[in-house]
Amino acid sequence: MSLFTAVEMAPRDPILGLNEQFNADTNPNKVNLGVGVYYDDNGKLPLLACVQAAEKLMMESPKARGYLPIDGIAAYDAAVKSLVFGADSEPVKSGRVATAQGIGGTGGLKIGADFLKKLLPTAKVLISDPSWENHRALFTQAGFVVETHPYYDAAKRGVNFEGMLAALNAAEAGTIVVLHACCHNPTGYDITAAQWDEVIAVVKARKLTPFLDMAYQGFGHGIKEDGAVVGKFVAAGLCFFVSTSFSKSFSLYGERVGALSVLCENKEEADRVLSNLKLVIRANYSNPQIHGGTVVATVLNTPALRAQWEQELTEMRVRIKAMRQKLVDGLKAAGVKQDMSFITTQIGMFSYSGLNKDQMVRLRSEFGIYGTDTGRMCVAALNSKNIDYVCASIAKV
Ligand code: PLP
Repeated sequence: MSLFTAVEMAPRDPILGLNEQFNADTNPNKVNLGVGVYYDDNGKLPLLACVQAAEKLMMESPKARGYLPIDGIAAYDAAVKSLVFGADSEPVKSGRVATAQGIGGTGGLKIGADFLKKLLPTAKVLISDPSWENHRALFTQAGFVVETHPYYDAAKRGVNFEGMLAALNAAEAGTIVVLHACCHNPTGYDITAAQWDEVIAVVKARKLTPFLDMAYQGFGHGIKEDGAVVGKFVAAGLCFFVSTSFSKSFSLYGERVGALSVLCENKEEADRVLSNLKLVIRANYSNPQIHGGTVVATVLNTPALRAQWEQELTEMRVRIKAMRQKLVDGLKAAGVKQDMSFITTQIGMFSYSGLNKDQMVRLRSEFGIYGTDTGRMCVAALNSKNIDYVCASIAKV
């Protein structure tokens, strides 16, 4: 008998579990579309030139590694505020945004969740059905009851917007609503600008607590375009939360760079909120890391590197779009009778392909093509070398 005799094996993370299965697969043609990672046309994880340039600058004047302030690098937090709200925006100029560097976008969400648990201890959390699975786990761990609102409509191949709106309308005041700011994960379906206006009107009327998750800014239509929804919430006069992730947009997954921003009514309120975010951070991990944050701050705050980043981000976005089109064309050429053009109306890294669990299992076992059982495929892992094989294999199942 040990202290741990009664500890049961926890379920494997479904996506990381797929990765393990993929790595063990000996099929020479295997393709991993299960991940949430952007690969270039050679199937390689890119190391962005702007990141390398920033690291070169950092190496030229090496610095000792003391502890950072609890809320992170000041220049980083300022750059995040400008990126999310706009450098010349009223919230930034008036100082009413509280921003703290976080451990990836997940860390930003977690800081927000822990702070909200103190602020609104009895509130429920609403996430989309389906959502990034960690939303449920993260808010549950923070002590909340997590429920879903309708989102994906399989028959319509789109969003069940009426269902979503009805659920928001029925939510109790204070309910925390986690909204994907752009590039919905896992479905790839975003709501339109006009639908955002309706959501915002309900959020305001029902006094809900909006929490925007922005993990893919720049992967949809562009940095500004993808951030437009933030401007809509500002214009509506709402106070809200935004988590930011640079994992995908800087291809810095392992550096864990992200942030939480909270828009408050005024600067004095933002100062009080920030002091409380710091309490949460201090008790969780004390203070964030230096390297990734410095890279991102250097790129965002150096005009030439910033321009280079925007160019590289554009290349990633354009390549994903091209792969969507190739997938649609390739499936047609491979003999798929159904109209698959919905794949080009989806946005971001993922596609809900409409394939069912049996088809996804066959793709895996017979062809070495790995996607999730829900039919989610990472379009950003397709390339000119694997696309024909993927199309031909999908046609066969
Ligand atoms: N939010 C969503 C919707 C995501 O898809 C992801 C990553 O896949 C994250 C947050 C977390 O990002 P990070 O890896 O920076 O923690």
